[in-house]
Amino acid sequence: MDFPRPVSRRLFIGGAAATAGILTLTPSELALWAQGPQNGQGQAGAQGQGARRTTSEAEYDSYAKLSSNENCYGPPESVIQAMTRAMKYANRYGYPDGNITQEIADHHGVKTENILLGAGSGELLDVVGLTFLDSPSKKVVGSDPSYGSVYQQATTIKADAIKVPLLGDYRQDIAGLIKSTKTHYRDVGFVYLCNPNNPTGQIVTKKEMKHLLNELPEDMPVLIDEAYHHFVDDDDYATSVPYVLEGRPVIIARTFSKIAALAGMRLGYVVAPRELIVKMRAHQTGTINALVKWGGVAALKDTASQAQVKKVTVDLRKKVVRDLKQLGYESIPSEGTFFMVHIKRPVQPVIEEFRKRTVLVGRPFPPMLEHLRVSVGTPDEMARFTGAFKEIFTGPNAVGGKSGS
Ligand code: PLP
Repeated sequence: MDFPRPVSRRLFIGGAAATAGILTLTPSELALWAQGPQNGQGQAGAQGQGARRTTSEAEYDSYAKLSSNENCYGPPESVIQAMTRAMKYANRYGYPDGNITQEIADHHGVKTENILLGAGSGELLDVVGLTFLDSPSKKVVGSDPSYGSVYQQATTIKADAIKVPLLGDYRQDIAGLIKSTKTHYRDVGFVYLCNPNNPTGQIVTKKEMKHLLNELPEDMPVLIDEAYHHFVDDDDYATSVPYVLEGRPVIIARTFSKIAALAGMRLGYVVAPRELIVKMRAHQTGTINALVKWGGVAALKDTASQAQVKKVTVDLRKKVVRDLKQLGYESIPSEGTFFMVHIKRPVQPVIEEFRKRTVLVGRPFPPMLEHLRVSVGTPDEMARFTGAFKEIFTGPNAVGGKSGS
């Protein structure tokens, strides 16, 4: 088995740099790169807070990075080779792009007019906000907590969010979302649904999705964020792309950051009816680089690598959740590349304790302030996490709280 193979990105940079003879990043540039997408890409507050601090390259590399739901294995060889070949276009504007838009359209059985590419799906979440929250009175309706970038964007453009709390079992409150949307119908610009939800990892079932879409006013745009689609095992889940084919006003957001491990390269897309794509296109600002277009085409085709990364990630998630349960700590059932463990004490100081032990974990997600979100990293990173967890919670020098509580 090829995985774990966390050196791929390094190999790629080496290969690409050798091809171009140009790529030398200073530590501060690397620190910026390490902080993840920001400014206009809607992610600053949505990433794990650990990763946003400025770090040197050596410090960054020393961390177990379990804060931002990244794919720790790096892109597969097929993608690295495609991107390395595409370096020959680094100095061009009008270069062949591998027909990335057509490839994505074919992948979903839609037309190219139904696809809009973005520099990461984060850019497109912003574009949806700019398009449908087009006056200050407009609001987005969505669950809380969920992926925060959509709500931050609403705040940035002085629109508002109506946040519907999760249910007691941390599932999304479909009836509540329908009710809030109907109650504020005139003011609602769009509904946002993250499936599976970040940070909980819980899915909205096929049945719930159908009910939601049938009940919402038929002209209401619904943004369905399927960033973690590829990792779901639950048979009650399905992609909502078929609703686009039915002509419903749904916008499906997908990313190459998770399954394809291209977060640093920035590529995402939405699938939506043509009329909505036309409206959104006017608000697009990002540009997509030559390398990731070719990398994206290769990634779509490399289903074997996708299956492998899904398997190692899901198996490891289940193992760590089991280990934590044995220590007396329950996790919320997750279908994502991350899970939330109930730590039975305030999360903020615990996040700091992990950082002291060079393990970066997720930021707090109010109001779930006794839950810690942990991304699934490599086996080695997860061993470091579990080791640190034992030290912090159960060891003779357990920090704060009651030992083993
Ligand atoms: N949507 C969700 C639910 C996410 O968790 C993320 C990133 O963590 C994104 C969107 C943004 O991904 P990207 O902009 O890298 O495509």
